Amino acid sequence: MAQDLMEKIVSLAKRRGFIYPGSEIYGGLAGTWDYGPYGVELKNNIKNLWWRMFVQSRDDVYGMDAAIIMNPKAWEASGHASGFSDPLVECGKCKHRFRADHLEDVTKCPDCGGKLGEARQFNMMFRTSVGALDDGSGTVYLRPETAGGMFVNFKNVLDSLHPSLPFGLGQIGKAFRNEIAPRDFIFRSREFEQMEVEYFVRPDTWAEHFEAWRKAMWEFIAAVGIAKDKVSELEVADGDRAHYSKRTIDFEFEYPFGKKELYGLAYRTDFDLRAHSDTSTKPLTYAEEGEEAFVPHVIEPSFGVDRTVLAVLASAYAEEGEGDNIRVFLKLPPYIAPVKAAVSPLLKNKPELVAKAREVYAALKKEVPQIVWDDNGNIGKRYRRQDEIGTPFCIVIDFDTLGEKPELTDTVTLRHRDTGEQERLTIQDAITRVCEAAMLR
Ligand code: ATP
Repeated sequence: MAQDLMEKIVSLAKRRGFIYPGSEIYGGLAGTWDYGPYGVELKNNIKNLWWRMFVQSRDDVYGMDAAIIMNPKAWEASGHASGFSDPLVECGKCKHRFRADHLEDVTKCPDCGGKLGEARQFNMMFRTSVGALDDGSGTVYLRPETAGGMFVNFKNVLDSLHPSLPFGLGQIGKAFRNEIAPRDFIFRSREFEQMEVEYFVRPDTWAEHFEAWRKAMWEFIAAVGIAKDKVSELEVADGDRAHYSKRTIDFEFEYPFGKKELYGLAYRTDFDLRAHSDTSTKPLTYAEEGEEAFVPHVIEPSFGVDRTVLAVLASAYAEEGEGDNIRVFLKLPPYIAPVKAAVSPLLKNKPELVAKAREVYAALKKEVPQIVWDDNGNIGKRYRRQDEIGTPFCIVIDFDTLGEKPELTDTVTLRHRDTGEQERLTIQDAITRVCEAAMLR
């Protein structure tokens, strides 16, 4: 059943223009995915909601967009250059590679039964070089997480905006990891996006801020349309946490392929600022008037964009009916749905209907840009297509709109995705309804 759901999601995502395998016409490239027209809208809506909730609507979080390529010393300081690795094992027979910590039996190849070799540490940072010399002097890395760009700008933000503690920096951007075994669609890829906050606090207040962020993460989970009953917290045990973290909670989601990490919340102590300060020899401290300077501590809520997309799709996927009559629809919150409404004339070969529908379409599109014109096939087919991409409303212009029944002049039918119900509304009321539902709150 669960595997079946995964196949349905992957197939719908491709067929309806959400997500395609990366570089597909060249046979693909493992661990890469391309977002198509509806996928990019969905992803942008998710990022906008996050930005709205965690940056714009708060007075204590400042947005950032740091460079992906950083001075390599930053990755030495953070420990990524020496320690950002996973244990790699290779099969002596079929040569397939696996992450040793993901295997139940580390001696036998799960693909062919061959003997697996010794585990060795494999650094997951992608390496490239800057400048014209190819002698290793220009070696740099693609960032494996967005966090680093915020730590190295702590002092810049402090000096330019003068925020008081507690305050945070928030960033959305690409991260790259040369995963040994990318798998499970967009769950584990080599190029992905993160949304992270580094929240700086006084050391003795970390526990209360940790709690507040934990609550805020649940609020986002609900708002973005992830089924809350499929999410659970995992308190990461002492031995399993990163050495610098005093407390970490993984938010896990029941994906069709199992319960796996969706987000992480970590108390990183003063590890990062202290490490960057030691390596750069610049003081990364904070002090209020008359106070002795100290290194702030950090709470880090970390969200994967692509894992959010997958959890949102898995939560929204719904089927109704049986056999050939199955209706598939995505129950996305309207402000997350890639298309807010589809506008159609009842019949596409009646110029007067088309002209009126075009008028309604133009008026609505002026208010909400994510609107489509759909006059392809019969009405039933249009509804099915829109259901599958999660469009919450379909607006149809018919002869009554034109005044065939005078009392219905300038009214339209508004059809609801989840129930299939239709109601008759004035054009203005229909526009207002779509605008209200589509707006981010
Ligand atoms: P995992 O244990 O699954 O490899 P992680 O613990 O290494 O994940 P973090 O370093 O905590 O992950 O990264 C923060 C967030 O970034 C994760 O919660 C996840 O949402 C996302 N993420 C990490 N690696 C990937 C990846 N390879 N593909 C997609 N998203 C990822």
